[in-house]
Amino acid sequence: MVRLTFHGGVREIGGNKILLEDDRGKLFLDFGYPYKKYRDFYEEYLKPRPGAGLLDLLVMGLLPKLEGVYRTDLETEHLWQRFRRAKNYRKLEDIDGILLTHAHLDHSGHIAFLREDIPVYATATTAFIAKAVQDSGKASFDQQVCYFAPRIEECAEGLKQGAYVASSAGDRQRRFCLADKSKLSQGAEKFWEKATGRKKLAWQPLGDICGCSFTLRCFPVDHSIPGACAWGIETSSGWVVYSGDLRLHGRQGRLTELMIKEAARLHPRALILEGTNVDKATNVSEQEVYENAFKAIRYARGLVIADFSPRDVNRLLTFLQVARDTKRKLAILPRDAYLLKTMRLLEPEIPDLAAEESLAIYQETTAARSPAAWLRSIYEDYSSRIVLAKDVGANQGDFILSFSFWDLNELPSIQPRAGSLYVFSSSEPHDEEQEMDFWRLHHWLKHFQLRAFGLPVERNGKWEIPEEERGLHASGHACGADLLRVAREIQPEVLIPVHSEKPEYYVDNLGDSGINVVLPTEGGTLEI
Ligand SMILES: [Zn+2]
Repeated sequence: MVRLTFHGGVREIGGNKILLEDDRGKLFLDFGYPYKKYRDFYEEYLKPRPGAGLLDLLVMGLLPKLEGVYRTDLETEHLWQRFRRAKNYRKLEDIDGILLTHAHLDHSGHIAFLREDIPVYATATTAFIAKAVQDSGKASFDQQVCYFAPRIEECAEGLKQGAYVASSAGDRQRRFCLADKSKLSQGAEKFWEKATGRKKLAWQPLGDICGCSFTLRCFPVDHSIPGACAWGIETSSGWVVYSGDLRLHGRQGRLTELMIKEAARLHPRALILEGTNVDKATNVSEQEVYENAFKAIRYARGLVIADFSPRDVNRLLTFLQVARDTKRKLAILPRDAYLLKTMRLLEPEIPDLAAEESLAIYQETTAARSPAAWLRSIYEDYSSRIVLAKDVGANQGDFILSFSFWDLNELPSIQPRAGSLYVFSSSEPHDEEQEMDFWRLHHWLKHFQLRAFGLPVERNGKWEIPEEERGLHASGHACGADLLRVAREIQPEVLIPVHSEKPEYYVDNLGDSGINVVLPTEGGTLEI
């Protein structure tokens, strides 16, 4: 018998934390950051206290109450006493590993809190993206997926109460077991082992040394970030397949098709399937995004700003093609250049920044005395590609700037000309906080007299993209009909929907399929 306990991802898009256990061992399927649960209590200026270790997260229900799985530098001896009678408390030992499906933080973010000796199973691309994002990120306490500086409980001078403060003991590294080691070139191994500065990382190829108690299958799938995969786990009850996030309509859709075929061959006992876009009837393809973006930008005068997620490397490549075809340069931020450089170590088809004439790197205004090591490496390696705000400001018709809402504060340096174009190629707001950001974005555009294209506008309390400006975003998730096809073709005995606000969709639409749809509950266990 296999037991599946759902500590996240139930009636929630993201935050997947599924514990799989049988007499062979125990695995976590993803260990994600639950954005929605955080937003119920916290915002930008109200955060869990880093000095409180695990306390805030456990009390507020952001982390499951599982003693024994978390970093020991964040817990005192007494911490667990107050939770031992709490609902869903468990002491858990000997976790075989975490099967990570992809490097989006709503699947990977809370790995930061797990003991570093629990190995992470992932594709090489996922591991490398996770590291590039962490290297170039804000080093925030809860996004340390690949390595972390341990904290110690200490009483600062003059204070009566101790707190968890950063120690100088040097980084601790997480063990990664890669599902596709054959892809690793020498340069890639060097990046992984040496990285920027002192961060030496350990990795192990899957199946060799990891000592996992289960037989695992890793199936690459298509999603809005490279390296995504689904997992198959052979348990004492038969195969369990976990989809992660996927789509069929992207450039790599054939990967998902192949996964469906191979997963079907396993005759799985259970399929844990995402359901983000169950209420969407159709998909927009990346080719349509290209065509619509090209049409919008072709006759634009002045500066073009393109707002998309650069970790969606496919989208970046789409806008690079638009830049080439409109005789502009795509100017990306240094952290995106670092991501491309990292990805190229594994995927030679990723453009080489040094050779690609249509790419530029926009140097942001910073107040730091000396740039971080990763940033220095970008400025040194690609010095001929660097452009400054004044270069862009003086030649506005030559650029497509890859900026998001969070980068708008650069505009006072650039001074875009009135009538410049802001192309929005991302998803619509999902909650009130994001709606506020869209209000601010509209104010920025008005202030600089920029034209918007594809941007959601508010009408009668609903934010929607104007009819004639749609088709600029291909979602990372399959639409309802495609998801039903995934379920029917794999034909598991049991289907368990996760990562969805409307899991009933599968109950309503698979009645005649012979598949038993079972809805999980938060913190609840299903025995199969
Ligand atoms: Zn995702």
